[in-house]
Amino acid sequence: MEEKDKLLDSQEENSKPKIIFIISTIVLVFAGIIYAGILLFTADHSIKIPTDVSTYSNIEQINTKLINFDWEIDFEKQMIKGRVDLTVVAMQDGINQVCLDTYNLTIKKVYDANGNNFSKVELRELAASAPFLGQPLWITLNSPLKATNETIIKIEYETAQKPMALSWIKKENTLAKTLPMVFSQCEPIYCRSLAPLQDSPSIKSKYTATVRVPRLADNFPVFMSAITTNVQASPQYLTYKFESPIPIPSYGIAITAGAYQTEKISSRVTLIAENISLYKDHLAGVGENLLVNLEKYMNIPYPWSLYQIVVLPASFPYGGMENPLLTFVHPLIFEGKDKSGLNVVVHEMAHS
Ligand SMILES: [Zn+2]
Repeated sequence: MEEKDKLLDSQEENSKPKIIFIISTIVLVFAGIIYAGILLFTADHSIKIPTDVSTYSNIEQINTKLINFDWEIDFEKQMIKGRVDLTVVAMQDGINQVCLDTYNLTIKKVYDANGNNFSKVELRELAASAPFLGQPLWITLNSPLKATNETIIKIEYETAQKPMALSWIKKENTLAKTLPMVFSQCEPIYCRSLAPLQDSPSIKSKYTATVRVPRLADNFPVFMSAITTNVQASPQYLTYKFESPIPIPSYGIAITAGAYQTEKISSRVTLIAENISLYKDHLAGVGENLLVNLEKYMNIPYPWSLYQIVVLPASFPYGGMENPLLTFVHPLIFEGKDKSGLNVVVHEMAHS
């Protein structure tokens, strides 16, 4: 009897730590559930888009809505002289600074829509750690903008000689040997060598351009990734006007000038080349079909009224470049009888 009581007592003693352990476990599990619940309801579940590391511009604070270029192409010095007007809109309240990307530009004058200087304009140095990003141009506005407010920044400037985005060919090295040639390549971040702007694909802007070329011949064709709206001739210059009514990223801004021939392949497709006869048979009867089949496949109409294919000289370093409505292609895509190289055209059309 005594022995049995002792045994019962010892069992009671042993069960106390077990009960404490079970209660603590239950408390901890409940505390964990409550903590997880708090985290779940207070966490920010929006998708975080990483900031563009290839621009200096404050793209989260201000966006360019419209760009107006006023350019003179100097084929002697192989550079562009001109002005850019940027219509920018604030994305937040209290924005008083605009930072633009530039690359080896000479900034001459920066002013607002009324011709007034801004509080401060500072062109910073190339960063030794990332010289390819260029020199940020910081402009301090005269008064802060509220969200959705717009303002216009006008900048007179010159590009460097042979800016990074442009390839130049002297007339002696062209097929016809009558006119010099220039063509651009703004992708990925070379547009900042043509003009100060927000050089990021996050920023999509409409653009217009007035482009003067020397009147070296009665016909000196110029094309941009935009609709040609007007051409005027003076004794000195040919002046082209362009308009891109659809907002595009800066890497899609494109220009070329040279002794080009053009041929309408269909109602919407035009072929542009130094020697059309080398390529037109390849595209005849095919060009419009490519566009129509692409529209059917994507189930959306092609948004531009025309599609132009420019066959560049063999020094063009890519198969194709998807400038909106102005695809640049390498002449090699026309090699071969099976026309398989035209895949490049379809690919670039899809980009447009
Ligand atoms: Zn592509």
